[in-house]
Amino acid sequence: MPATRYVFPFEEGDANDKQLLGGKGAGLASMTQMGLPVPPGFTVTTEACRQYYAAGQRFPEGLLTEVHTAMKQLEAKTGKRFGSSEDPLFVSVRSGAALSMPGMMDTILNLGMNDDVVEAFARAVDNPRFAYDAYRRLIQGFGEIAMGAEEKRFARILETAKETQGAKYDHELSIDSLAAVCAAYKKVIADDMGVVFPQDPMKQLEMAIEAVFGSWMGRRAVDYRREFKITPEMANGTAVNVQTMVFGNMGNDCATGVAFTRDPGTGENVLYGEYLTNAQGEDVVAGIRTPKPIAELQNEMPENWDDLQKVRHTLEERYHEVQDFEFTIERRKFYMLQTRNGKMNAAAFVRTSREMAEEGLLSREEALLRISPAHLEQLLHRRIDPSVDAEPIASGLPASPGAASGSVVFEADDAEARGRTGESVILVRVETKPEDIHGFFQAKGILTSRGGKTSHAAVVARGMGKPCVVGAEDILIDDREKVALIKGERVREGDVLTIDGGTGAVYVGEIQTVDPEFGPEMKTLLDWADTARRLGIRANADTPEDAAKAREMGAEGIGLCRTERMFNAADRLPIVRDMILARSEDERRQAIEKLRPMQKADFKGIFKAMEGLPVTIRLLDPPLHEFLPSIESLLLQLGSLKRVRDHIAAGETSPESIAPLVDPALRESLPPLDRLGREVPGAKGKLVIDELIEQAEAILQKVRDITEVNPMLGHRGVRLGITVPELYSMQIGAILEAVAELTREQVNAVCEIMVPQVTEPQELARVNELVKDVRTSVESEYGVQLDFKFGTMIEAVRACIRARPIAEITEFFSFGTNDLTQATFSFSREDAEQKFLPAYVEMGVLPENPFESLDIHGVGRLMKLAVESGRAVKPDLKVGICGEHGGHPRSIEFCHTLGLDYVSCSAFRVPIARLAAAQAKLREERRSREQREHPDYPFNVM
Ligand code: PEP
Ligand code: MG
Repeated sequence: MPATRYVFPFEEGDANDKQLLGGKGAGLASMTQMGLPVPPGFTVTTEACRQYYAAGQRFPEGLLTEVHTAMKQLEAKTGKRFGSSEDPLFVSVRSGAALSMPGMMDTILNLGMNDDVVEAFARAVDNPRFAYDAYRRLIQGFGEIAMGAEEKRFARILETAKETQGAKYDHELSIDSLAAVCAAYKKVIADDMGVVFPQDPMKQLEMAIEAVFGSWMGRRAVDYRREFKITPEMANGTAVNVQTMVFGNMGNDCATGVAFTRDPGTGENVLYGEYLTNAQGEDVVAGIRTPKPIAELQNEMPENWDDLQKVRHTLEERYHEVQDFEFTIERRKFYMLQTRNGKMNAAAFVRTSREMAEEGLLSREEALLRISPAHLEQLLHRRIDPSVDAEPIASGLPASPGAASGSVVFEADDAEARGRTGESVILVRVETKPEDIHGFFQAKGILTSRGGKTSHAAVVARGMGKPCVVGAEDILIDDREKVALIKGERVREGDVLTIDGGTGAVYVGEIQTVDPEFGPEMKTLLDWADTARRLGIRANADTPEDAAKAREMGAEGIGLCRTERMFNAADRLPIVRDMILARSEDERRQAIEKLRPMQKADFKGIFKAMEGLPVTIRLLDPPLHEFLPSIESLLLQLGSLKRVRDHIAAGETSPESIAPLVDPALRESLPPLDRLGREVPGAKGKLVIDELIEQAEAILQKVRDITEVNPMLGHRGVRLGITVPELYSMQIGAILEAVAELTREQVNAVCEIMVPQVTEPQELARVNELVKDVRTSVESEYGVQLDFKFGTMIEAVRACIRARPIAEITEFFSFGTNDLTQATFSFSREDAEQKFLPAYVEMGVLPENPFESLDIHGVGRLMKLAVESGRAVKPDLKVGICGEHGGHPRSIEFCHTLGLDYVSCSAFRVPIARLAAAQAKLREERRSREQREHPDYPFNVM
């Protein structure tokens, strides 16, 4: 067997193999092979990194020999020599895993310099300032990254040098100052790390490669992978790219920049980016000097502007994606340093998808598949309410859209600590660094006073879809004192700020925000999605307003209308309580009848809002005690009444003396306080307060009577409907009367009645009898023929098992996967999410929270059983899902493959569901095409 090859020059690597070469390495190989001007170099593979760890953090055999050979080839290609004083070769060392992880890994520049080389180089380029600056950067980068020296120590030396010399910017430092800085840096390494900075360039290179491998398991990288659920299948180890240095900081005919082939903020088809003349790449990304907009390059270096335009088109034609690339101009010669798919916000993704499809760069199918539902979610971000007349106190560059308010914190650690407690925080910093990543995860927004739209803060926030404003230069931040000075106003830690990442505005205090809207691009793409998908999309909505919103978002019906939400309305709750606490059948019937017209009005409103589209109304589901006060609060009230009685018995009857004894929650329901001590008319010796105590005790007793040990598994849903048939009869009556009245009004109400918590066909058969009775009486009363469907929730395990006989009685199934997940795992949702699920997911016991992402292997199998059994007796049985999973993209894909008819989710997730359903269908088509084209694929052989 030939030995594994670990090193590939850019000319030779397989540009499609990101797993082996990493994204950056594959990009460099591809650009080199396309003929773009890439400085020569080579990639050490991710396999080498894996072997390094497998061998207990040692280089695999043969790796160093390959590296040495590759360096010799590099010398031959460039005509320069590594470590030589004459025409020396310098290289950069960068990490690059299969997936881009912005700022996650470390880069070291200018390798190959040492005390001798720097002097010779200074003479050769006739620019000692530049040479020493390059050496300074090498020692610093190398010291921090490869040797673990403290960054602050270097920064302090540089600041002191600038102060001593009276310089504002790094590039104003004199040669002597820079040489002194280099010496001081080397001393830091020797003092802190107890090792001297290696003068042997090959040693530098080996240590740098090892440092990149080491950074794969560094805290930042591990945190990032955990947060974004990057599994070893997606990226396993980092590659290392060793590339000839080109210098953008040799003089004013040099520049370096970062650009996107299209505007990543808006998606507009224009070159977008920033550059700095006489600077090195890291200066742009780190945001240390504020860069110039790319358009200025057209005047400053016109011939290189043409290079950029050419590159832009070549890249898009090759990748069919917007590219984010780095370039350097060394003495007017243009070089490409790297390219990767551009991270864009949702608006830009949507716009470029549509436009690239219309330009013929993508097919519609590709355009739809390229938008991730998570990106679409960004479009659901809020923005500042335009009707609010708020004056921003400062403004910066709009780096990632969305508005966010929160308490100011100045350190990533504080953002993490306070954010984890549920507090909304805004991370405010001069600039951010990769080690701040944990603060990003918990912050609601990020605000920096320095840096451009490609600074670390901007790129990371955009990737996460978090609101971000950068380069707000009016904000002076003192992070040691934890205070910011904004136009004379002091903002301390804990004060509230609002930022708008769409406009760059910063406000003091919390400013009202509004819901997002969809633009025309989004509408077009979702129209394409609607044509592509098979699954229907409905929404869960309980009010006419929610229904209207759902329709606006593209819902094709209501998949779940929960009637208990209506029972909780302020004007209903007292009647619902009367119904529950009724002492006789008659009292109960009276209360139920009072609810009928209210329910009918609710249903009419929803049917009207959804005219022509199906509305599934679920009969009452929760246990009744949910509508009653808790035993604790009743006991408190009773205690308060008893204190009032003792007070009155002691002869104190003035309202002023009674008032402080009354529980505030009781106050509104009591008669005037001066009456409490009076006798009840016709009841000799009994005072009003005595009667109130009697009533409270009766309520307490009733609540105790209906209290269950395990109410969620108790007297609820269809079980309540069967034992208190008046309740379901009233609801069915209100629904069918609403339909009958609308039919007369010529409104097309498409009605579906759904029964919750069913476990046994007999239950449904009985409710169906009620439905038939009510139907007969409503039809004769209104003189109309009613048309509606009768169906059931499938949310109990037994319902899945008994799906066959259940299907015989019903016309549709709707999976209640919230309850079905609880029941399948025997986990209580509330307790699980509070207590152990996060730990389970973190420890990898479960891959994901099954209440968010459908558990395909458990719950999914039960669903499959139910669908197959149900359709075995009723092939046209309509099946949907209305649990939370109906809005979760991967769960939607599963529902698609299971052959469901529709998914139902909250109105705001409807667009995501439309896209996810289309993607499910397109991926299915793609798979079957591949299987047709490659019938011998091993995965076809079972
Ligand atoms: C379900 O159980 O999935 C469901 C939709 O019902 P609820 O969330 O109201 O229990
Ligand atoms: Mg349920």
